[in-house]
Amino acid sequence: MKIETRAVHAGRHIDPATGAVTAPIHLSTTFERSKEADYPRGFIYSRDDNPNRRALEECLASLEGGTDAIAFSSGLAVATALVQGLQPGDHIVAPDDVYWGLRKVIGEVFGKWGLETSYVDMTSMDEFHAALRPNTRLVWVETPSNPLMKITNLPTIAALTRQAGPDILTVCDGTFATPVLQQPLDCGIDMVVHSTTKYLGGHSDVIGGALITRHANPLFEHARKSQKFGGSVPSPFDCWLTLRGIDTLPWRVRAQSENAMRVAQFLEAHAAVEKVHYPGLPSHPGHKVAARQMSAFGGMLSFEVRGGRAAALAVAAACELFIRATSLGGGHSLIEHRASIEGPDTRTPQGLLRVSIGLEHTDDLIADLAQALATVPV
Ligand SMILES: *Cc1c(COP(=O)(O)O)cnc(C)c1O
Repeated sequence: MKIETRAVHAGRHIDPATGAVTAPIHLSTTFERSKEADYPRGFIYSRDDNPNRRALEECLASLEGGTDAIAFSSGLAVATALVQGLQPGDHIVAPDDVYWGLRKVIGEVFGKWGLETSYVDMTSMDEFHAALRPNTRLVWVETPSNPLMKITNLPTIAALTRQAGPDILTVCDGTFATPVLQQPLDCGIDMVVHSTTKYLGGHSDVIGGALITRHANPLFEHARKSQKFGGSVPSPFDCWLTLRGIDTLPWRVRAQSENAMRVAQFLEAHAAVEKVHYPGLPSHPGHKVAARQMSAFGGMLSFEVRGGRAAALAVAAACELFIRATSLGGGHSLIEHRASIEGPDTRTPQGLLRVSIGLEHTDDLIADLAQALATVPV
């Protein structure tokens, strides 16, 4: 079935006890054993498994076309569980502009673990290929990337990795693309990660993460064990909210993509804007690859204001409809000066503003940006 149908039906079941169409939230931490001392209903204790979590995992696996999924308490909990599955001395290849939290996980949480990491420009297949080593075990991809919206060619990464050895697993952080616009597992990638906090939850009201796999493999199995005994589980209500958000995911994401395209075109033509990073624009270096592996270009874009840091901060300050806040994927549009949140060692240009385009009317979004950009002397 098509993704709109799976988004509404996968993992949903009529409650056998009451006939409730919308799932009850199962707050019980523990489940009854039979007289024979087994668990005929399949649930034991809510850290191990819970009906709301299982429903969400069924739906996530279906949306990505995977064989199995694990719902976590946050996107970074997924990254933590995966990195924890590596051995001291193992090597990771990751993008040089990877989501900054992953660098923190590898460098600060696992700093003493003895892992080797190469951060490379994954838009260059030569640079990527040269980074693979005999001890490489994990290739981390993020496309589109944050905040420059760089596009990585997923089928090529999957093929080059497979050639390099059967022990290397590929993982794609598909948070910006969502399962609606891009299907990494179909491109040959082994596993997909999402921060469900963003588009899947879709309403800026629940933190969560997901790991979906195409096939059974040691890192996936370790991630499940790491969750079960490490305890990074989402609450039943978190799972319920995320699944509720997924009902409308395909429609939201397509509307946000249409809005973002119009906003990107407006910005590209504006004299106060130096550069727009949006893969839907033919001027974007990853446009051709994006057009092949994505069905639309998503709701995220960034742009560089003429005049650098001060001008960018002034534009953000002048916005009245766009909300100044981090994160993305909700119904409201957000604007953020990334460099100041990423700190002094950031690689993000100081004049860059990242926006998450919401579900407002594009005319209103463009009018707000137009009046805010009028603060920039050109
Ligand atoms: C937000 C985000 C994460 C981290 O997810 P949390 O749910 O905040 O832990 C990882 N990757 C990307 C691309 C993100 O945008």
